[in-house]
Amino acid sequence: MYNPNNIFARILRNEIPANKILETEYTLAFHDAFPKTPIHILVIPKKSYITFHDFISTAEPEEILDFYRTVDAVVRSHNLDVAGYKLQVNTGEDGGQEVPHFHLHMMGGLCKS
Ligand code: AMP
Repeated sequence: MYNPNNIFARILRNEIPANKILETEYTLAFHDAFPKTPIHILVIPKKSYITFHDFISTAEPEEILDFYRTVDAVVRSHNLDVAGYKLQVNTGEDGGQEVPHFHLHMMGGLCKS
C-alpha cells in the first residue's frame, strides 16, 4: 500500500522544500539532496506509484510519455547527452529502494567524481 507520508509525496505537496528543476502536469524533476555523483537528479511521477511496475502497468500513456520526455528534457538542459549519463531505478528491498515512491536517478559527471 502506498504511504502518503513518504518524503517524495511530501515534496509533491510542498510540505518540504526541494531544489526543483522541471515540473510538468505529471512529472517533477529535482536535485537529489544527498548527491552520489556531481550531477544527481531525481525524476518522479506526480501520482502515487511505489514501483516501476506500478507505474508502467497502471499509469495513463500520456503520464508515461511525459515522464520519459521530462527525463530527456533534463538530460539535454544539463548537457548530459554530450558526455553521457546513467539512469537508475532502485526497486524494493533487494534493489536498495529507500523512498517508496517510484523515482528514476539521473547521474552525470561520473568521470569527475
Ligand atoms: P532510493 O534509494 O532509490 O530510494 O533513492 C532515494 C534518494 O532520495 C536518495 O538518493 C536520497 O539521497 C534522496 N533523498 C532523500 N531525501 C531527499 C530529499 N528530501 N530531497 C531530495 N532527495 C532526497
